[in-house]
Amino acid sequence: MVSEGQTRVPARRGPKNKLALLGGEKAVKSEQGDMFTWPIVTDQHEQAVLKVLRAGQMSGFEVTKEFEKKYARALGRKYGLAYHNGTAAILGAMYGLGIGVGHEVIAPSLTYWASIVQAYTLGATPVFADVDPDTICIDPKDIEHRITARTKAIVVVHYAGMPADMDAIMKIAAKYNLKILEDCSHAHGALYKGKEIGTFGDAAAFSLMTGKSLAVGEGGILFTDDRKVYERALLFGHYIRHDEITLKELKPFAGLPCGGFKHRMHQLSSALGLVQLELYPEAMSEIDKAMNYFCDLLDDTPEGVHRTAGIRPIRPPKGTNTTKGGWYYPHFKYVTQELGGLSLSRFSEAVCAEGSICNPGANSPLHLHPLFTTMDVYGHGRPTRIAYLDESVKIEQYIEALPVAEGINHRVFEVPWFKHYRPQIIEEHANAYKKVVENHRELLADDTGKDTEGSRKAGSQIGGYSSFFSS
Ligand SMILES: *Cc1c(COP(=O)(O)O)cnc(C)c1O
Repeated sequence: MVSEGQTRVPARRGPKNKLALLGGEKAVKSEQGDMFTWPIVTDQHEQAVLKVLRAGQMSGFEVTKEFEKKYARALGRKYGLAYHNGTAAILGAMYGLGIGVGHEVIAPSLTYWASIVQAYTLGATPVFADVDPDTICIDPKDIEHRITARTKAIVVVHYAGMPADMDAIMKIAAKYNLKILEDCSHAHGALYKGKEIGTFGDAAAFSLMTGKSLAVGEGGILFTDDRKVYERALLFGHYIRHDEITLKELKPFAGLPCGGFKHRMHQLSSALGLVQLELYPEAMSEIDKAMNYFCDLLDDTPEGVHRTAGIRPIRPPKGTNTTKGGWYYPHFKYVTQELGGLSLSRFSEAVCAEGSICNPGANSPLHLHPLFTTMDVYGHGRPTRIAYLDESVKIEQYIEALPVAEGINHRVFEVPWFKHYRPQIIEEHANAYKKVVENHRELLADDTGKDTEGSRKAGSQIGGYSSFFSS
């Protein structure tokens, strides 16, 4: 019997080629097993945690110090300082770098909020830059014109597992004497031109929470080669370790956490971290192999021609081993023009129906959120973003359209993050994508084409501030 759907496709196509969304068989058929299970927990992890637990060392810092030393050594940085989460590590790093009242800090709009919201706590003003459409990391070409006399630092996020363009960014930092804080929470182990990310900035911070590449449960860590950054971070939130403070200008303040924060890492997390440091390099190299295999199946032929229309992996240029992904939250670019204008939402629906993973967009652009356009968090009587700037400064000066970040929902999509190199399963996922690309015309008829533009237009919220306090 011939169903309605089948009459629309050429006869040579069996049910295998018919899109699952239109009633065909799924491309992904295999049991996925632990292909996506993360983190990988072994006996070694369990034993490490039990040892600390049984010794009653949950709240000390000896295991934590061992973890910091080992991680810093592995990364090639002088000082490591562990935190109870990545958000706190970034706050500590900001304070360490001397970011404070009246400073501006440039950050990409496309990131998780914890790359930059902490600036508010220190009285600083976030300034957003757009991202490069190819790397979806901060666009070095969109930084320089945002620098003012108030600019103190740039937060560089190695976003969605891929290293940012550090050559260009470090050049700008040197030219204007700005601090660089690397947020490495998406890219543990990624390399930029042979050098590990987290070794470029004046400070670097990593989240180590469960979902991230190097996972310890909840945790974060700060790295620096600058004694002053390290000691300031200790002073701010690690009061129990103030015996490590040696700098003359900081010594008089030792004893109490000057930030009013307690930033210590749980030692069960430190114990897990020590095991992760041992096991991660091998896991990472298998993930790298799996992800590159998946990308290769869908990307360039040896002649450099795109194999699959409409989709492009976001990964370091091929042919070098010196720039490498960390692969957390991997994404592809979407080129609708090559697929007859098919919306990414419809495309994604079809890939998911095949049994694979395809999520349009990434983080929502921060610069459009009311927290950065109108909200008065602390009752200053004006938006917190400009609370510590001269009265003559208006919030409007900071609100701009950032077209790449705003269009992210139809520019990129998240692909499967394979944890193991299992060619057959990876091929099935690649086939799901290929099948949808090859049959995309069949999706055009029912495509409502409603790819949302990221969200509202920049500035639509302006016109007064909103406060908890003023009403
Ligand atoms: C997860 C994350 C953080 C915050 O880390 P937590 O450990 O969750 O506090 C900061 N920046 C980025 C980019 C992140 O993804």
